[in-house]
Amino acid sequence: MPFSSGEKWRPRAGFFKFSCCTGCGFELAYFQRSLEDTLKSFDFAFFRLASSSGDFDSLLDLALVEGTVTEPFQAVELKKIRKNSAVLYAVGSCAIAGGIPAIKAGGLELEIEKRAYQKKLYRLTSIRPSVLGDYVKVDGCVRGCPPGRHDLEEALVSVLLDRKPEFIEYSVCVECKMKGNICLLVDEGLPCMGPVTNAGCGALCPSCHRACYSCFGLMGQANIPALKDKFRQLGLSGEEIERRFTLFDGLKLKK
Ligand code: SF4
Ligand code: SF4
Ligand code: SF4
Repeated sequence: MPFSSGEKWRPRAGFFKFSCCTGCGFELAYFQRSLEDTLKSFDFAFFRLASSSGDFDSLLDLALVEGTVTEPFQAVELKKIRKNSAVLYAVGSCAIAGGIPAIKAGGLELEIEKRAYQKKLYRLTSIRPSVLGDYVKVDGCVRGCPPGRHDLEEALVSVLLDRKPEFIEYSVCVECKMKGNICLLVDEGLPCMGPVTNAGCGALCPSCHRACYSCFGLMGQANIPALKDKFRQLGLSGEEIERRFTLFDGLKLKK
C-alpha cells in the first residue's frame, strides 16, 4: 500500500466500496496528499484501491465505507463490516444520501434494468438503492462528492485521538461569504443550492461563477421550503426544483 509504514502501534482501518464511482476512495488514497502522514498512522487491513491483497474480515478500529447498497450481497457485507468495526463512517454522498446511484430509485427496478442492460449478458441481482444507515448504525458522515480534506482528516484524527469527530455542519453560503463572492442567487437570480447544502468544498462552484448543485448533500436543519419558494419566484418549474433537491439526496428526501 502507498501509505503503510512499519513502526509502533497503529489503529487498524479498512476502506470499503459499494455501488459508486470510487471517487471518495481515490480522493483519500491519492488526491489529498496532505493526508499522507495521517494515513501512515493507520494499518490499512483492506483498501482495494491501494492494494489487491487485504483481509476483508479483519477486526477494525475504523471502517470507512463509500457507495450505495444496490445488491443483496452488499447488504450482507456491510453488516459484516459493521460487526467487525469499532467505528464506521459513511463516506460520500452515495453512502449518506443515495447520490448518483439513487437516481434509479424513482422507477421500477425491472424496467430500469431492461433500459440499462438491453442485452442481458449475465444474471442481474440489483435491488432498490439504500443508504448505509438503512442497514447498519453509522457513527458519522464524511460528506461530499468526493469529501474535502477537512472532514476526511477529521475522520482519521478522531480515531487516532479517541474523540468525537467535528465534521463541518454549516452551509456552502458560509464558505462562499468567507471567500468574498457576490451572491449568485441574490445578485443574478441563479438557482444556487448553497443555502441548504453542507459545506466542505470551499464553495468551489460559486467561486467559479456557477450555481451550487448540492453535491455535498443537504445539511441538517436546511430550510428546504424557503429555498423552493425562492426558486419558484425565479421561475423554475416544480420538476426543475425537484431535480435540484433530489440529484444527490434522492433517498434521504423520500424517507
Ligand atoms: S460520493 Fe461522489 S465521488 Fe464519492 S463515490 Fe459517490 S459519486 Fe463518487
Ligand atoms: S452564491 Fe450560492 S453559495 Fe454563495 S452566498 Fe449565494 S446562495 Fe450562497
Ligand atoms: S456543487 Fe455545491 S457542494 Fe458541490 S462542489 Fe459545487 S459548490 Fe460545492
